[in-house]
Amino acid sequence: MATKVPKVPVVIVGMGWVGGIIAAELTKQGTKVVGLERGKPRSTQDYYMVHDELRYALRYDLMQNLSRETVTFRNNEKITAVPMREYGSFLLSEGLGGAGVHWNGQTFRFLPYDFEIYSKTVERYGKKKIPDGMTLQDWGITYDQLEPYFDKFEKLAGISGDQEQNPLVGKRSSPFPTKPMVKTPVIKLFEDATKKLGYHPYMMPSANLSEQYTNPDGITRAACQYCGFCERFGCEYGAKADPVVTILPIAQKSGNFELRSYSNVIQILHDGKKASGVVYVNTVTG
Ligand SMILES: Cc1cc2nc3c(=O)[nH]c(=O)nc-3n(C[C@H](O)[C@H](O)[C@H](O)COP(=O)(O)OP(=O)(O)OC[C@H]3O[C@@H](n4cnc5c(N)ncnc54)[C@H](O)[C@@H]3O)c2cc1C
Ligand code: SF4
Repeated sequence: MATKVPKVPVVIVGMGWVGGIIAAELTKQGTKVVGLERGKPRSTQDYYMVHDELRYALRYDLMQNLSRETVTFRNNEKITAVPMREYGSFLLSEGLGGAGVHWNGQTFRFLPYDFEIYSKTVERYGKKKIPDGMTLQDWGITYDQLEPYFDKFEKLAGISGDQEQNPLVGKRSSPFPTKPMVKTPVIKLFEDATKKLGYHPYMMPSANLSEQYTNPDGITRAACQYCGFCERFGCEYGAKADPVVTILPIAQKSGNFELRSYSNVIQILHDGKKASGVVYVNTVTG
């Protein structure tokens, strides 16, 4: 039997970047939010001096345990979907902050072309270039419409970047909030060689802070120590932007946010048009 708990205006399923950003924005405006996260709570302290490659890189400690639960997958509609039991390129997150905790932090903006891939292709090559049945579409919004949100995210996360960029990128309304990462001798070698070949090398936008930074919400984070354990690991310095160190403190500070960890949502209740609630299981107590 399920226990009915008191209603709240907003329930968010999953506390990664997306759930966390929505939680922070809503709670700042005074809306009560419950965040349900199937995994455990996390903080930077969990990673102090633990660059354990066996645990994190090979045994996927920060990711969903596929032997217990997983997604199913099929190559077309005619075959039976089977569970994915081994990790390939999709590394499913589990725990506070989601994949944002163990991501690399490469933060390219999409190119203006990406949003209008159908129209731009037709404009340049004609309709015949698109094969029959190919589901190529414009996004329905343009780069210019999304630019203020790219800008907002970059300031929130303190994205470091070079003002010299890929010449194909769209216009920026403001410069990167932090300077580019330090160039290693190997990067310098690469830069010199590619410039000589007529290319435009640039330091890529990165969510690893190149310097101490305070974001518009007043959150101060330390600079990257170049330890090199970003992907598949959490950052003990809080230098790599993740939801736990950037946005969830804002939601928590508002007094309008309640995080429920170990809460696995198994059903969304709805009438076909509108969701009215969720059914979830506390994975510790059952
Ligand atoms: C190793 C790695 C490196 C990456 N590097 C980069 C990079 O350099 N640059 C880049 O742009 N992107 C990168 N990504 C991708 C990026 O991290 C993700 O796209 C992004 O973090 C996804 O955020 P999200 O909020 O959509 O989802 P997630 O982070 O997956 O969050 C979903 C959350 O929901 C929870 N959840 C799921 N189902 C339920 C349920 N039923 N009930 C309760 N909770 C649930 C999960 O536990 C999880 O915490 C990388 C990803 C990985 C795995
Ligand atoms: S200190 Fe820098 S390199 Fe190390 S995990 Fe943090 S952001 Fe990544």
